[in-house]
Amino acid sequence: MLLSEYKPVSELVLRQSVIKKPRYDVIDVHTHFGLTGVGANYMNKYDTQKAVEQLRNSGVKKVVNLDGMWGEELDQMLEKTKPCEDFFITFGTVDVSRIDEKDFEVYVRNTIRQSKEKGIKGLKFLKDVSLVIKDSQSKYIPIDDARLRVIWETAAELKLPVLIHIADPVAFFKPIDSNNERYEELCRNPGWSFCKQGMFTFEQLMEMQENLLKNHPDTTFIIAHGGSYTENLKQVSEWLDKYPNMNVDIAARIAELGRQPFTSRKFFQQYQDRILFGTDGGPSNSSYPIYYRFLETDDEYFSYSTRPVPGQGRWNIYGIFLEDEILEKVYYKNAERLIH
Ligand SMILES: [Zn+2]
Repeated sequence: MLLSEYKPVSELVLRQSVIKKPRYDVIDVHTHFGLTGVGANYMNKYDTQKAVEQLRNSGVKKVVNLDGMWGEELDQMLEKTKPCEDFFITFGTVDVSRIDEKDFEVYVRNTIRQSKEKGIKGLKFLKDVSLVIKDSQSKYIPIDDARLRVIWETAAELKLPVLIHIADPVAFFKPIDSNNERYEELCRNPGWSFCKQGMFTFEQLMEMQENLLKNHPDTTFIIAHGGSYTENLKQVSEWLDKYPNMNVDIAARIAELGRQPFTSRKFFQQYQDRILFGTDGGPSNSSYPIYYRFLETDDEYFSYSTRPVPGQGRWNIYGIFLEDEILEKVYYKNAERLIH
């Protein structure tokens, strides 16, 4: 039998809570309804009203759509979500590949101002900035590069929080071998590996992330995917202690958080004002009940995925049964406070 054919079924007889609705309304701060999440033909790919109705039925009050981009693309994105304007909070971005153009600073300031006038409530940067886009010298652009300073300063001036995705799971930066905890996932998607010559290492990216937080204390950052390092909550805690401008979302990281339930529960208790609910989903997202089960119940050893064999690794998770007061903050109060 091949490892890929192995599909063990747990024999534990345990409570199986089904949490279709969250205890409080949810603001999902990490969703994609356009170019980066749905694809170039998103205008015809889903019906906005139907998608929103489905999300509302899952207890979602509002979402932050991170796919606002800029310029005409932003106009199109806003047109697509217009039928349910009140439901969508849109974040935009700027074209970092223009970094070496001589009017880059002016371009950044104008773009962010114009986008804000059109209605964006924050900025979003993808991991592309340090892992894909290259400057005029064909070099990857470190996220703490001085040329990008204008972005963080303009965001602070205009009171726009910046949601930023800097790295990926740490295993994506390690060799794809028999010790890699994401071996099967990386075999299916070899392009997701960043363990390549010439790319920044995970440690370098974390150093840049820290510099960003340190150098721009007036900018509010929401570091996506649990501060980039949910595998090491001790480290994330140290950053949160040091940098009051740092906040984190939990998008696509319950597979990490839920397999260290004691540490996670303490983490949520300690940083209850800095953690935001997010899923990394889009128009059709069936993962909400799993997130609710993780946050609300003390259920044990359940799947973090809707697939028969979970995609990220062959482990299960445990609920962290957060107190009502903490749940409320994580579900929507922290988002309401940070996003004006
Ligand atoms: Zn995302």
